[in-house]
Amino acid sequence: MGFPTNIEALRANIEALRAVVATRQNAVKVASDEVVRQERRCQENQAIVEILNDLLNSWQDHDPGKNHDVYFFLDAYLRQRVVVREFLPDDAKVYQTRKEWEEYDRTRSWHGANYDGVPYWYPVVNLDAAGKSECSECKSVQPVVEHYVQTYDSPEGDEWLKEHLVLCLDCNSTTVFKSKTSDSRFYL
Ligand SMILES: [Zn+2]
Repeated sequence: MGFPTNIEALRANIEALRAVVATRQNAVKVASDEVVRQERRCQENQAIVEILNDLLNSWQDHDPGKNHDVYFFLDAYLRQRVVVREFLPDDAKVYQTRKEWEEYDRTRSWHGANYDGVPYWYPVVNLDAAGKSECSECKSVQPVVEHYVQTYDSPEGDEWLKEHLVLCLDCNSTTVFKSKTSDSRFYL
């Protein structure tokens, strides 16, 4: 082939190269769409890892939501936070009564320390009894969890976010179906 030796051949070469450029541009577009898609899935999966980790120990938090996002399972009516028995370590302490709790509370080293057992105000229930709803993607019935966090903290005013989301590990997805904000801690 070699370098074109007349104007028609050079023009043909330009046309051929334009077509190659168009094909490559399309390939770049497809690849970058895939990168965006993978990044989004990656972030979603990472978020689920954090939710699951938090569900294991949010009952230890003395002021849930104040310093970081917290997640709780809910009762069947989606009104009250609960702790799921199946996800408690075998040796986890559960304070059954206010009296038991108060005795423990007096021995705590400092106000902000993590609780060493499940406070009496969280009912410990079987997973069967935890609140559930339909996953928007696969339509199966999955646990609902409460997400709670202080989203804004300032002298002019605070903001607290409370939302319910369906947590589906079949799809590795979450669906927010109820979300509220408040200028102070929610009454729970
Ligand atoms: Zn699903």
